[in-house]
Amino acid sequence: MIETDNILPFLENDIRPDIVMVGQRQRTLNDAKLLLKYEHQFVEIACPACGSRNEAQNFKRYGFRYASCGMCHTIYVNPRPRPDHLAEYYVKSEDWAYWNKYVFPASEKARREKLFLPRVNALLEMCKRFETATRTIAEVGAGFGIFCEEIKKVRVFDRVLAIEPSPDLARSCRERGIETLEQPFENVAIADASLDVLACFEVIEHLYDPQAFLKKCKALLSSGGLLVISSPNAAGFDSVVLGEKWNAIDLGHLNLFNLDSLSALLQVSGFRVVQQATPGRLDAELVRKEVLDGALDLTEQPFLRQILIDRWQETGLAFQSFLSNNLLSSHMLVAAQKL
Ligand SMILES: [Zn+2]
Repeated sequence: MIETDNILPFLENDIRPDIVMVGQRQRTLNDAKLLLKYEHQFVEIACPACGSRNEAQNFKRYGFRYASCGMCHTIYVNPRPRPDHLAEYYVKSEDWAYWNKYVFPASEKARREKLFLPRVNALLEMCKRFETATRTIAEVGAGFGIFCEEIKKVRVFDRVLAIEPSPDLARSCRERGIETLEQPFENVAIADASLDVLACFEVIEHLYDPQAFLKKCKALLSSGGLLVISSPNAAGFDSVVLGEKWNAIDLGHLNLFNLDSLSALLQVSGFRVVQQATPGRLDAELVRKEVLDGALDLTEQPFLRQILIDRWQETGLAFQSFLSNNLLSSHMLVAAQKL
Protein backbone atom coordinates (compact mmCIF):
# COMPACT_ATOMS: atom_id res chain seq x y z
CA MET A 1 0.00 0.00 0.00
CA ILE A 2 1.28 3.45 -0.87
CA GLU A 3 0.41 6.43 1.28
CA THR A 4 -0.63 9.41 -0.77
CA ASP A 5 0.51 12.49 1.07
CA ASN A 6 -0.79 16.03 1.01
CA ILE A 7 -4.37 15.64 -0.13
CA LEU A 8 -5.23 18.80 -2.04
CA PRO A 9 -8.89 19.74 -2.25
CA PHE A 10 -9.72 18.58 -5.75
CA LEU A 11 -12.99 19.15 -7.55
CA GLU A 12 -14.10 17.67 -10.84
CA ASN A 13 -14.88 21.20 -12.03
CA ASP A 14 -11.16 22.03 -11.79
CA ILE A 15 -10.15 19.59 -14.50
CA ARG A 16 -13.42 19.37 -16.44
CA PRO A 17 -14.90 22.87 -16.09
CA ASP A 18 -18.72 22.66 -16.33
CA ILE A 19 -18.87 25.80 -18.43
CA VAL A 20 -16.86 24.30 -21.29
CA MET A 21 -18.48 20.86 -21.14
CA VAL A 22 -21.67 22.00 -22.86
CA GLY A 23 -22.60 19.88 -25.86
CA GLN A 24 -20.46 16.94 -24.69
CA ARG A 25 -23.15 14.33 -25.25
CA GLN A 26 -23.89 15.39 -28.83
CA ARG A 27 -20.19 15.38 -29.70
CA THR A 28 -19.82 11.89 -28.24
CA LEU A 29 -22.80 10.63 -30.27
CA ASN A 30 -21.39 12.17 -33.46
CA ASP A 31 -18.01 10.60 -32.74
CA ALA A 32 -19.58 7.20 -32.08
CA LYS A 33 -20.98 7.29 -35.61
CA LEU A 34 -17.42 7.63 -36.97
CA LEU A 35 -16.66 4.20 -35.54
CA LEU A 36 -20.05 2.54 -35.86
CA LYS A 37 -20.08 2.93 -39.65
CA TYR A 38 -17.40 0.18 -39.58
CA GLU A 39 -19.39 -2.01 -37.18
CA HIS A 40 -19.56 -4.88 -39.69
CA GLN A 41 -15.73 -5.03 -39.52
CA PHE A 42 -15.42 -4.95 -35.71
CA VAL A 43 -13.11 -7.67 -34.35
CA GLU A 44 -14.11 -10.25 -31.75
CA ILE A 45 -11.39 -10.63 -29.09
CA ALA A 46 -10.61 -12.58 -25.90
CA CYS A 47 -10.08 -10.66 -22.64
CA PRO A 48 -7.20 -8.22 -23.28
CA ALA A 49 -5.77 -8.90 -19.80
CA CYS A 50 -6.01 -12.67 -19.21
CA GLY A 51 -7.03 -14.09 -22.60
CA SER A 52 -10.18 -15.73 -21.22
CA ARG A 53 -13.33 -15.93 -23.35
CA ASN A 54 -15.53 -16.33 -20.29
CA GLU A 55 -17.70 -13.21 -20.25
CA ALA A 56 -19.56 -12.75 -16.97
CA GLN A 57 -21.92 -10.12 -18.33
CA ASN A 58 -22.20 -7.43 -20.93
CA PHE A 59 -23.99 -4.17 -21.65
CA LYS A 60 -24.20 -1.57 -24.42
CA ARG A 61 -23.10 2.05 -24.35
CA TYR A 62 -23.14 4.48 -27.30
CA GLY A 63 -23.81 1.44 -29.52
CA PHE A 64 -20.71 -0.45 -28.34
CA ARG A 65 -20.82 -3.73 -26.48
CA TYR A 66 -18.85 -3.85 -23.23
CA ALA A 67 -18.02 -7.27 -21.77
CA SER A 68 -16.87 -8.00 -18.24
CA CYS A 69 -14.32 -10.83 -17.94
CA GLY A 70 -15.55 -13.67 -15.76
CA MET A 71 -11.95 -14.48 -14.75
CA CYS A 72 -10.17 -11.15 -14.09
CA HIS A 73 -13.10 -8.65 -14.14
CA THR A 74 -11.56 -6.42 -16.79
CA ILE A 75 -14.27 -4.52 -18.67
CA TYR A 76 -13.59 -4.31 -22.40
CA VAL A 77 -15.20 -3.40 -25.70
CA ASN A 78 -15.95 -6.58 -27.64
CA PRO A 79 -16.16 -6.75 -30.59
CA ARG A 80 -13.97 -3.66 -31.12
CA PRO A 81 -13.07 -1.33 -34.00
CA ARG A 82 -9.99 -2.14 -36.07
CA PRO A 83 -6.77 -0.17 -35.38
CA ASP A 84 -6.97 1.74 -38.69
CA HIS A 85 -10.56 2.79 -37.95
CA LEU A 86 -9.55 3.89 -34.44
CA ALA A 87 -6.74 6.00 -35.92
CA GLU A 88 -9.25 7.65 -38.28
CA TYR A 89 -11.59 8.32 -35.34
CA TYR A 90 -8.89 10.15 -33.36
CA VAL A 91 -8.11 12.37 -36.35
CA LYS A 92 -11.77 13.23 -37.07
CA SER A 93 -13.20 13.23 -33.52
CA GLU A 94 -15.19 16.37 -32.67
CA ASP A 95 -14.79 15.71 -28.98
CA TRP A 96 -11.00 15.41 -29.02
CA ALA A 97 -10.76 18.60 -31.07
CA TYR A 98 -13.03 20.35 -28.56
CA TRP A 99 -11.02 19.19 -25.54
CA ASN A 100 -7.77 20.23 -27.18
CA LYS A 101 -9.16 23.63 -28.14
CA TYR A 102 -11.18 24.53 -25.04
CA VAL A 103 -11.13 22.15 -22.08
CA PHE A 104 -7.40 21.54 -21.72
CA PRO A 105 -6.40 25.20 -22.12
CA ALA A 106 -9.17 26.32 -19.70
CA SER A 107 -8.00 23.85 -17.07
CA GLU A 108 -4.25 23.88 -17.70
CA LYS A 109 -3.30 25.57 -14.42
CA ALA A 110 -5.39 23.20 -12.30
CA ARG A 111 -4.19 20.18 -14.27
CA ARG A 112 -0.58 21.21 -13.88
CA GLU A 113 -0.89 21.62 -10.10
CA LYS A 114 -3.25 18.80 -9.29
CA LEU A 115 -2.45 16.13 -11.87
CA PHE A 116 0.97 16.67 -13.41
CA LEU A 117 3.05 17.87 -10.45
CA PRO A 118 1.89 14.95 -8.25
CA ARG A 119 2.78 12.62 -11.16
CA VAL A 120 6.25 14.14 -11.42
CA ASN A 121 6.79 13.75 -7.67
CA ALA A 122 5.49 10.18 -7.65
CA LEU A 123 7.75 9.26 -10.56
CA LEU A 124 10.85 10.81 -8.99
CA GLU A 125 10.19 8.94 -5.74
CA MET A 126 9.90 5.67 -7.66
CA CYS A 127 13.17 6.28 -9.48
CA LYS A 128 14.87 6.81 -6.14
CA ARG A 129 13.24 3.84 -4.51
CA PHE A 130 14.03 1.42 -7.34
CA GLU A 131 17.44 2.97 -8.12
CA THR A 132 16.38 3.53 -11.71
CA ALA A 133 18.93 5.07 -14.08
CA THR A 134 18.01 8.63 -15.09
CA ARG A 135 19.60 9.11 -18.48
CA THR A 136 16.48 9.15 -20.69
CA ILE A 137 12.76 9.34 -19.95
CA ALA A 138 10.03 9.25 -22.61
CA GLU A 139 6.33 9.88 -22.32
CA VAL A 140 3.96 8.08 -24.70
CA GLY A 141 0.98 10.25 -25.63
CA ALA A 142 2.57 13.42 -24.28
CA GLY A 143 -0.43 15.61 -25.24
CA PHE A 144 0.29 19.29 -24.58
CA GLY A 145 3.63 18.38 -23.00
CA ILE A 146 2.93 19.58 -19.46
CA PHE A 147 4.32 16.47 -17.76
CA CYS A 148 7.46 16.57 -19.94
CA GLU A 149 7.87 20.28 -19.23
CA GLU A 150 7.66 19.71 -15.47
CA ILE A 151 9.94 16.67 -15.43
CA LYS A 152 12.47 18.59 -17.51
CA LYS A 153 12.45 21.45 -14.97
CA VAL A 154 13.66 19.24 -12.13
CA ARG A 155 16.81 18.33 -14.15
CA VAL A 156 16.98 14.77 -12.91
CA PHE A 157 16.98 13.22 -16.40
CA ASP A 158 19.66 13.95 -19.01
CA ARG A 159 17.11 13.66 -21.81
CA VAL A 160 13.31 14.10 -21.87
CA LEU A 161 11.43 12.83 -24.91
CA ALA A 162 7.79 13.39 -25.86
CA ILE A 163 6.17 10.83 -28.16
CA GLU A 164 3.07 12.42 -29.67
CA PRO A 165 1.67 11.47 -33.09
CA SER A 166 -0.96 14.23 -33.32
CA PRO A 167 0.56 17.22 -35.23
CA ASP A 168 -1.16 19.96 -33.17
CA LEU A 169 -0.21 18.42 -29.85
CA ALA A 170 3.34 17.66 -31.02
CA ARG A 171 3.67 21.35 -31.92
CA SER A 172 2.57 22.29 -28.40
CA CYS A 173 5.27 19.98 -26.96
CA ARG A 174 7.95 21.52 -29.19
CA GLU A 175 6.84 25.04 -28.24
CA ARG A 176 7.53 24.13 -24.63
CA GLY A 177 11.08 23.23 -25.62
CA ILE A 178 10.57 19.47 -25.41
CA GLU A 179 12.38 17.11 -27.80
CA THR A 180 9.39 15.61 -29.62
CA LEU A 181 8.95 12.54 -31.80
CA GLU A 182 5.84 13.12 -33.91
CA GLN A 183 5.37 9.44 -34.66
CA PRO A 184 3.02 6.62 -33.74
CA PHE A 185 4.45 4.64 -30.84
CA GLU A 186 4.59 1.33 -32.74
CA ASN A 187 7.06 2.81 -35.27
CA VAL A 188 8.81 5.32 -33.05
CA ALA A 189 12.44 6.11 -33.95
CA ILE A 190 14.03 5.11 -30.65
CA ALA A 191 16.70 2.41 -30.40
CA ASP A 192 15.82 -0.71 -28.40
CA ALA A 193 16.96 -0.76 -24.76
CA SER A 194 17.67 2.98 -24.76
CA LEU A 195 15.05 4.30 -22.30
CA ASP A 196 15.38 4.20 -18.52
CA VAL A 197 11.84 5.32 -17.82
CA LEU A 198 8.72 5.18 -19.97
CA ALA A 199 5.60 6.97 -18.75
CA CYS A 200 2.12 6.28 -20.21
CA PHE A 201 -0.61 8.29 -18.54
CA GLU A 202 -4.18 7.46 -19.61
CA VAL A 203 -3.05 5.64 -22.74
CA ILE A 204 -3.50 1.89 -22.30
CA GLU A 205 -7.30 2.07 -21.96
CA HIS A 206 -7.47 3.41 -25.55
CA LEU A 207 -5.40 0.72 -27.25
CA TYR A 208 -6.63 -1.98 -29.60
CA ASP A 209 -3.93 -4.41 -28.42
CA PRO A 210 -2.51 -3.56 -24.96
CA GLN A 211 -0.22 -6.60 -24.90
CA ALA A 212 1.48 -5.62 -28.17
CA PHE A 213 1.96 -2.14 -26.66
CA LEU A 214 3.61 -3.57 -23.53
CA LYS A 215 5.93 -5.71 -25.67
CA LYS A 216 7.06 -2.59 -27.50
CA CYS A 217 7.57 -0.81 -24.14
CA LYS A 218 9.71 -3.72 -22.98
CA ALA A 219 11.85 -3.59 -26.13
CA LEU A 220 12.54 0.15 -25.72
CA LEU A 221 13.43 -0.01 -22.01
CA SER A 222 16.93 -0.68 -20.75
CA SER A 223 17.51 -3.58 -18.38
CA GLY A 224 15.82 -2.73 -15.06
CA GLY A 225 14.06 0.19 -16.76
CA LEU A 226 10.83 1.45 -15.25
CA LEU A 227 7.43 1.53 -16.94
CA VAL A 228 4.85 3.78 -15.26
CA ILE A 229 1.22 3.42 -16.31
CA SER A 230 -1.88 5.21 -15.13
CA SER A 231 -5.40 4.19 -16.15
CA PRO A 232 -8.96 3.95 -14.80
CA ASN A 233 -9.38 1.16 -12.23
CA ALA A 234 -12.56 -0.84 -12.82
CA ALA A 235 -12.48 -2.14 -9.23
CA GLY A 236 -12.45 1.33 -7.62
CA PHE A 237 -15.14 3.03 -5.56
CA ASP A 238 -17.08 5.01 -8.15
CA SER A 239 -16.59 2.32 -10.81
CA VAL A 240 -18.15 -0.35 -8.61
CA VAL A 241 -20.90 1.86 -7.13
CA LEU A 242 -21.89 3.46 -10.45
CA GLY A 243 -21.54 0.34 -12.63
CA GLU A 244 -22.58 1.13 -16.19
CA LYS A 245 -22.85 4.84 -15.27
CA TRP A 246 -19.14 5.03 -14.40
CA ASN A 247 -17.70 7.96 -16.38
CA ALA A 248 -14.75 5.88 -17.63
CA ILE A 249 -17.22 3.75 -19.63
CA ASP A 250 -16.59 6.22 -22.38
CA LEU A 251 -16.15 6.28 -26.13
CA GLY A 252 -12.59 5.28 -27.01
CA HIS A 253 -11.98 3.48 -23.71
CA LEU A 254 -11.60 -0.08 -24.94
CA ASN A 255 -9.88 -1.65 -21.91
CA LEU A 256 -10.83 -0.94 -18.30
CA PHE A 257 -8.41 -2.97 -16.24
CA ASN A 258 -8.13 -3.25 -12.47
CA LEU A 259 -4.94 -3.42 -10.38
CA ASP A 260 -4.83 -7.21 -10.46
CA SER A 261 -5.60 -7.65 -14.15
CA LEU A 262 -3.18 -4.94 -15.30
CA SER A 263 -0.47 -6.35 -13.04
CA ALA A 264 -1.02 -9.86 -14.40
CA LEU A 265 -0.78 -8.55 -17.97
CA LEU A 266 2.47 -6.76 -17.12
CA GLN A 267 3.89 -9.98 -15.69
CA VAL A 268 3.11 -12.06 -18.77
CA SER A 269 4.59 -9.25 -20.89
CA GLY A 270 8.01 -9.52 -19.19
CA PHE A 271 7.74 -7.05 -16.32
CA ARG A 272 7.87 -7.27 -12.54
CA VAL A 273 5.27 -5.05 -10.87
CA VAL A 274 7.05 -3.02 -8.20
CA GLN A 275 4.42 -0.52 -7.12
CA GLN A 276 0.64 -0.13 -7.16
CA ALA A 277 -1.23 2.98 -6.08
CA THR A 278 -4.66 4.54 -6.57
CA PRO A 279 -4.02 8.29 -6.40
CA GLY A 280 -7.55 9.18 -7.58
CA ARG A 281 -9.21 12.21 -5.99
CA LEU A 282 -12.69 12.24 -7.47
CA ASP A 283 -14.46 8.96 -6.59
CA ALA A 284 -16.56 10.27 -3.72
CA GLU A 285 -17.42 13.53 -5.47
CA LEU A 286 -18.52 11.75 -8.66
CA VAL A 287 -20.85 9.40 -6.79
CA ARG A 288 -22.19 12.29 -4.71
CA LYS A 289 -22.93 14.20 -7.91
CA GLU A 290 -24.98 11.28 -9.28
CA VAL A 291 -27.00 11.21 -6.04
CA LEU A 292 -27.59 14.97 -6.06
CA ASP A 293 -28.63 14.81 -9.73
CA GLY A 294 -31.16 12.09 -8.88
CA ALA A 295 -29.40 9.53 -11.07
CA LEU A 296 -28.45 7.31 -8.12
CA ASP A 297 -30.78 6.46 -5.23
CA LEU A 298 -29.14 5.83 -1.85
CA THR A 299 -32.40 5.29 0.08
CA GLU A 300 -31.38 1.65 0.63
CA GLN A 301 -27.80 2.68 1.46
CA PRO A 302 -28.20 4.99 4.48
CA PHE A 303 -24.60 4.57 5.61
CA LEU A 304 -23.22 5.63 2.24
CA ARG A 305 -25.73 8.48 2.22
CA GLN A 306 -24.34 9.75 5.52
CA ILE A 307 -20.83 9.92 4.12
CA LEU A 308 -21.65 11.35 0.71
CA ILE A 309 -24.59 13.65 1.50
CA ASP A 310 -25.61 14.24 5.13
CA ARG A 311 -22.11 14.56 6.61
CA TRP A 312 -20.20 15.42 3.42
CA GLN A 313 -18.52 18.53 4.82
CA GLU A 314 -17.01 16.57 7.72
CA THR A 315 -16.33 13.24 6.02
CA GLY A 316 -15.95 13.79 2.26
CA LEU A 317 -12.24 14.57 2.10
CA ALA A 318 -11.27 11.96 4.71
CA PHE A 319 -13.33 9.31 2.93
CA GLN A 320 -11.65 10.08 -0.40
CA SER A 321 -8.23 9.86 1.30
CA PHE A 322 -9.18 6.49 2.75
CA LEU A 323 -10.07 5.22 -0.74
CA SER A 324 -6.89 6.60 -2.30
CA ASN A 325 -4.64 5.23 0.44
CA ASN A 326 -6.10 1.73 0.38
CA LEU A 327 -5.99 0.94 -3.36
CA LEU A 328 -9.72 1.58 -3.62
CA SER A 329 -9.91 4.60 -5.92
CA SER A 330 -10.93 4.19 -9.55
CA HIS A 331 -7.77 5.85 -10.84
CA MET A 332 -4.65 3.69 -10.64
CA LEU A 333 -0.92 4.02 -11.12
CA VAL A 334 1.24 0.94 -11.63
CA ALA A 335 5.01 0.81 -11.94
CA ALA A 336 6.85 -2.20 -13.35
CA GLN A 337 10.48 -3.04 -14.01
CA LYS A 338 11.70 -4.73 -17.16
CA LEU A 339 12.93 -8.19 -16.26
ZN1 LIG B 1 -9.75 -11.46 -18.09
